[in-house]
Amino acid sequence: MNESTQQIAKPAQLIPCQTCQHLIGPQAETCPQCGSPNSWMHPVVAKAMSSADKLTVERRFQYWGKGAEVWGESVYHSPVAYLVMVGILVAILFSSLFTSIFGPALGGVGMVIYWRSTAKKETFRANLVTGSWESSNEKFWLPVHTFLFQPSN
Ligand SMILES: [Zn+2]
Repeated sequence: MNESTQQIAKPAQLIPCQTCQHLIGPQAETCPQCGSPNSWMHPVVAKAMSSADKLTVERRFQYWGKGAEVWGESVYHSPVAYLVMVGILVAILFSSLFTSIFGPALGGVGMVIYWRSTAKKETFRANLVTGSWESSNEKFWLPVHTFLFQPSN
């Protein structure tokens, strides 16, 4: 896995606690003054959370956001993996005409193991306060990176 990290300098600003208005660090878990949990969300993170239709990459992906962070993953399979699955399925159906239940059971287990072992995953993680960005594949996640770090779009 080729990880790459990119740092973009951005000033970290204090935000008011939603309960007591005491100024706290945006990434604080709780307010040091009143102890309330910090439910602040960076505006860009909030925008990303409500813009599922605008956040697209070449494959379906899931993403989550909390505070200043957005992270996500896309799990997918190659066309070859789909073909192999069809092949195993055909073999199961064919063998079940001749054998007991063991053939299909073994084939089913084989399908699950094969499907899991051939899963590919692309991931990203962004922090809008520190400006940090990590991804498994820069080209794949470029539209997401652009959305998060060039909010004029
Ligand atoms: Zn507070």
